Amino acid sequence: MPHVVVLGGSIAGLAATRALRGQGLAVTVVEPDGLATTGARGGVPQGGQLHALLDMGRTQAERWFPGLSKDLVADGAVLGSGDEIRLYENGTRKVSVPGNELIGVSRTLLEDHIRRRTVLDDGVSVRVGRACGLDIRGGRVTGVRVRTAGSAEVAVVPCDAVVDATGRSSRLPSWLAAEGWPEPPADRMRIDLGYATARFRRGGELPGVTVAHQLPAAAGAAEQSDTGAMAAVEGDQWMAVIVAYAERRPSRDPAEFLRRMREMEAGPFGVVADRCAMIGEVETYGMAHSLRRNWWALDRLPGGLFVAGDAVASFNPVYGQGMTSAFLHASCLAAHLRKGADLHAPAHAYFRHVRVVVDAAWEVSTLSDLAQPHVTGPYPRGYRMARRMADWMARASTTDAWVNERFLDVVNMRRRPAALRTPEFWWRVAAALRAQAAQPGR
Ligand SMILES: Cc1cc2nc3c(=O)[nH]c(=O)nc-3n(C[C@H](O)[C@H](O)[C@H](O)COP(=O)(O)OP(=O)(O)OC[C@H]3O[C@@H](n4cnc5c(N)ncnc54)[C@H](O)[C@@H]3O)c2cc1C
Repeated sequence: MPHVVVLGGSIAGLAATRALRGQGLAVTVVEPDGLATTGARGGVPQGGQLHALLDMGRTQAERWFPGLSKDLVADGAVLGSGDEIRLYENGTRKVSVPGNELIGVSRTLLEDHIRRRTVLDDGVSVRVGRACGLDIRGGRVTGVRVRTAGSAEVAVVPCDAVVDATGRSSRLPSWLAAEGWPEPPADRMRIDLGYATARFRRGGELPGVTVAHQLPAAAGAAEQSDTGAMAAVEGDQWMAVIVAYAERRPSRDPAEFLRRMREMEAGPFGVVADRCAMIGEVETYGMAHSLRRNWWALDRLPGGLFVAGDAVASFNPVYGQGMTSAFLHASCLAAHLRKGADLHAPAHAYFRHVRVVVDAAWEVSTLSDLAQPHVTGPYPRGYRMARRMADWMARASTTDAWVNERFLDVVNMRRRPAALRTPEFWWRVAAALRAQAAQPGR
C-alpha cells in the first residue's frame, strides 16, 4: 500500500490524513506534540484564541469526520442559528439570516475530537518528532527526515509522498532550496494584528444568543474601534475576543479587556463584561502579516509533494477562514487523487485546485485589511472602487436579508467573491441603500 507522510497533526494535517485514508493510502503523521495530547499544546500557540468555524468549514469537517457537530454538541458545544447569531456593523445589528448556522466551540475541543477519531484508524501511524528536511531522489520525495523529541538523532521515514501541514512557519521552502529546488514566490501583507481572548462563566444572561460579532465601521473609522466576537462554548462558558491593530493591539490586562468589551457598541459584549465572572487569564496573540505562498507558480516541483493549510496561506484570522481553508484543501487532495493522479508525479493540478480556495480567502481578507490606515499594500488594481463597493454592500447588508445572505455566503466561503459582482446583487444593494436614505433618522 502506498505510504504518505503527513507533517503536522493539526487541523490541516488531520483533514489531509482523512482524505488520504479515503483513497486507501497508509499514513504516518509526524507531530512533535504527538496525537494523544488533549487541550492546549505548544505546537498550536493560537489554540487558546476564539476560533470561528465558518459554515463551509463545518460542512467540510462533517464530510471528513461525519457526526462531528453532534459529538461536539454532546460535549457542550452550542449550535446557533438565525436570530441566535447576532452580527453588528459598527453597533448596528444586521438583519438575521434564517438558515445561517454557527457552532460555538473552543478550538481545543474541536481539535481533540478530530485527533481522537484519527488515532482510532488502524491505517494511521503516529511518529512523535519534528520533521527537519526531505530526501528527494530521481525528482521525487522519497523520505522525510525526522528528529525525535529530546534527541539530536535524525531518522529518515521512507514514503511515496509527503503533505506539509506544519502551519504558518513551515520550513518547506528552505528544505527545498537546500536540495536545489525553487522556493515558491510569497505575498506578504503587513497587518500588525493583536488578538486577546478571555473566558467567562455563562449563565442565563443572554437567552437566545449563541454568537455575537461586531465589526467596526468600514474603511475610515476602522482604526478607532475594536472588532469583537464572542461565542457560547462548552463548559457553560463564553469565549470573547478583542481584535485591534498597530498601537491599539489589546494587552493581557483584564481591566482593559473588560473596558473594551463595554465600549463596544454591540450590546452582548457589555452584558457579559458586566454580569459574568472572567475565568483564568487574558491570552494574547500577535500576527505581523498575512502570507500566501504561491506553490502553483512553480514550474519545477518534486513529485509527491503536497502542501495544505496555513503552510500554503495564512490570512488575518479575524475573518475565520483558516480551518475552513484547511478542510477545503483536504477536499482538493481527495479530488486530485480520485482522478487517478500519479502520487509520485509533481502535483501541479492539486496546487491549481488549492489556488482557487486560497485566492477567494485572500481577496476577502485583504480587501478589508487594506482599509486599515497602517496597512500599506500591495493594492490590487481597481482597489479604490472595490473598497467603495464593499462599504456600500456592508451598509446594505444591515437591512436587506437577501444582500446579507449573499454576503454571508461569501464570508462563510460557501460561494466565491464573484457572487458579489453580479448585476442582480448590485441592483439589490442600490435598492437597500435607497430605502435606508428614505428612512428618517438613518
Ligand atoms: C490568533 C488566531 C486566531 C485564529 N482564528 C481562527 C478562526 O476564528 N477560524 C479559523 O478557521 N481559523 C482561525 N485561525 C487559523 C487557524 O488556527 C489555522 O488556520 C488552522 O489551525 C489550520 O492550521 P494548520 O493545521 O495548517 O496549522 P497549525 O494549526 O498552525 O498546526 C501546525 C501543526 O504542525 C506541527 N508542526 C510544526 N512544525 C512541525 C514540524 N517541523 N514537523 C512536524 N510537525 C510540525 C505543529 O505542532 C502543529 O500541530 C486563527 C489563527 C490565529 C493565529
